[in-house]
Amino acid sequence: MSKTIIVSNRLPLSLNINNENIEVTPSVGGLATGLKSVHHDGNGIWIGWSGLTENEVSDNLAPQVEKELKKQKCSSVSLTEKEVDGFYYGFSNRTLWPLFHYFSEFTEFHQDQWETYISVNQKFADLVIENLEDGDQVWVHDYQLLLVPQMIREQKPDVKIGFFLHIPFPSYEVFRTLPWREQILNGMMGADLIGFHTYDYVRHFMSSVQRLLNCEMNFNQIQYETRNVKVDSFPMGIDFEKFHHAAQKHNTSKTKSEIQLSLEKHRLIKGDTKLILSIDRLDYTKGIAKRLLAFEYFLEKFPEYQEKVRLVMLAVPSRANVPQYQDLKNEIDQLVGRINGKFSTVNWTPVWYFYRSMPFENLIDLYCSCEIALLTPVRDGMNLVAKEYIACRTDHTGVLILSEMAGASIELNEALIINPNNFEQVANSIKQALEMPDAEQKSRNKVMQDRIARYNVERWATEFMQNLTDVLAVKPTNRALKFNKTIENQLLEDFSSKTKRLLFLDYDGTLSPFTKKPEDAIPTPELFEVLAELHANPKNQLVLITGRDKNTFDSWFGDQPYSLITEHGLWLKSPDQSDWKLLEQVNNSWFEVIYPIMMRFTDNTPGSKIEIKNYSLAWHYRNVDPEYGANRAIELKATIQPIIANHNIEIMEGDKVLEIKASGVNKGKAASRFALDFGPDYILAMGDDWTDEHMFTDLPDDTVSIKVGNKITEAKYRIKDTSHVLDFLRKLAEN
Ligand code: UDP
Repeated sequence: MSKTIIVSNRLPLSLNINNENIEVTPSVGGLATGLKSVHHDGNGIWIGWSGLTENEVSDNLAPQVEKELKKQKCSSVSLTEKEVDGFYYGFSNRTLWPLFHYFSEFTEFHQDQWETYISVNQKFADLVIENLEDGDQVWVHDYQLLLVPQMIREQKPDVKIGFFLHIPFPSYEVFRTLPWREQILNGMMGADLIGFHTYDYVRHFMSSVQRLLNCEMNFNQIQYETRNVKVDSFPMGIDFEKFHHAAQKHNTSKTKSEIQLSLEKHRLIKGDTKLILSIDRLDYTKGIAKRLLAFEYFLEKFPEYQEKVRLVMLAVPSRANVPQYQDLKNEIDQLVGRINGKFSTVNWTPVWYFYRSMPFENLIDLYCSCEIALLTPVRDGMNLVAKEYIACRTDHTGVLILSEMAGASIELNEALIINPNNFEQVANSIKQALEMPDAEQKSRNKVMQDRIARYNVERWATEFMQNLTDVLAVKPTNRALKFNKTIENQLLEDFSSKTKRLLFLDYDGTLSPFTKKPEDAIPTPELFEVLAELHANPKNQLVLITGRDKNTFDSWFGDQPYSLITEHGLWLKSPDQSDWKLLEQVNNSWFEVIYPIMMRFTDNTPGSKIEIKNYSLAWHYRNVDPEYGANRAIELKATIQPIIANHNIEIMEGDKVLEIKASGVNKGKAASRFALDFGPDYILAMGDDWTDEHMFTDLPDDTVSIKVGNKITEAKYRIKDTSHVLDFLRKLAEN
């Protein structure tokens, strides 16, 4: 029976070892609840770290520990203290966490921590592979394991993999500062489905992939190597019933907890008094210091509320061995001290501060007792506390003040949404919340509560899994084989057994790397040398086949002893001819209509340019912002299409270029004709672009077709980039 393997940094349990006694306590957190059915379905298994390092679990106890974990359907990745330092406290929490939360000033870049991150991710991937059976699917979670999807894919190309990021994905401008940005994206792209909390994170991710990996996009699908990767938003919910029921129980219970009694005892001294709640892990992303300052500002701006309102602030200790967290703790301690010192009266302290974690029942007490929740993260992937607060307001009273920087604000827009940096707005919102009529509170909360109840954490997990299944149903079947030693040796062996060999080589992106400006892609001495070596063997017939205009190619290769086909198959120059031969009867009378339109687009798309060829017009946008360029290309295409509809002209889309040309002229037709005349016993065709696909499909079936790069292709093989192409051509030249 197939199963789902869940992979996260921490297992959903806590492990305690006391002498020989092993104690396993399952976690009751939201993620564990949401994934319960996925985990417990069939032979499901959860892979993660137990929280204890190799030192803390002695060798003789390790098998016993694993046995206990197995009872919980878990398996642990064993990590040394050094690995935890480099991988978790290091790269995860000193590089990825601050960077993805826009705290560039806290972001550290250490090569050794990155290397530990890679090796620990590999450990997770290896354990997944050990547990994988045919038909299984894998769901990888969060920023600690960004490389795991690709690491699994490398060894198990057909496995279904989902990935969910629980923190924000930053804008490209921030993400690009990461030295290992391409590796991180490639790691994530090993998945078939990549999920984020909000559409904004989806957008940022797609933008980074487009800019850094040069992948083609179609709505929320990314074409990556031979696969379609779907990217979508799945806002994570909470275990609504658990919180709602606990709150109902709290409200009807006859006995009161210590904290409840305490809250009541400290209820304030002047008539109609209110409590404002804030709960977070003590993290710099949560905006705790700013919240205190905004509260101080509120007390100054509206002194009539002094002695009538109290901030109940719970800060849960977190990552205490990362220096910024220690500094933050000191800062908060001092701020609370200062504000309390400044405003306190005999009967009143404005801030009631807890630095600890609280048991579930006490959290419920807080959620139920406080009339206002003030949650002001400066950046937060989701913020579940906001949803929990609303779930606990069983009579629908209460006001949520929520930062617009929290992912949850997208779903909770009936809350008072604030910018945490705008103290004026925060202070005014606190006042508005204190004065909000019950009816308004209820109508706002009802909408939010209904939504949270519907889209709970289980629904989140089910929808993600459903999408994972659907994505795979439309997976393309084409499988270009990636170059490796074995494939390369087979190809070389086959090549050396043939005597009349025809080689079609595309230029841009195949023999010459992609450059920002097309005119910069001039052939290098190294390229001339490789081509000369290939040509020197009389068994080889070499043809360079390009979309470029004949004049440029003539100036570069005109005096070389091999054949040239230019403008996608319009012109041919053979070494035995002194001049270029026009292969198709075409005209360019349509230039006068299309050129002015292209000119208009060029004028208001900085970085774009028109290339005028003999019988075609190309609009290049390599140098334009990638997203903007792609959108403008769609617009240009839509503008031109109706005009050329009844003429013998077509629009061809290449890599960052739109080319308008006579229809029916393409590299496939030209190459086929050439091959027919030549009568080879072996054909090889190489290209990187959409325009080369014509060669791959039109040439005879036994053609060795090779795609350069990671785009979807009809070719049989795939090679990484131009430097690998040159290496391979050099090897061919030796045979
Ligand atoms: N929480 C807890 N114990 C506490 C305080 C909070 O278990 O003493 C829980 C809270 O109920 C919520 C989670 O911690 O489910 C915090 O999640 P959130 O998304 O708000 O922030 P994160 O800590 O994940 O950044």
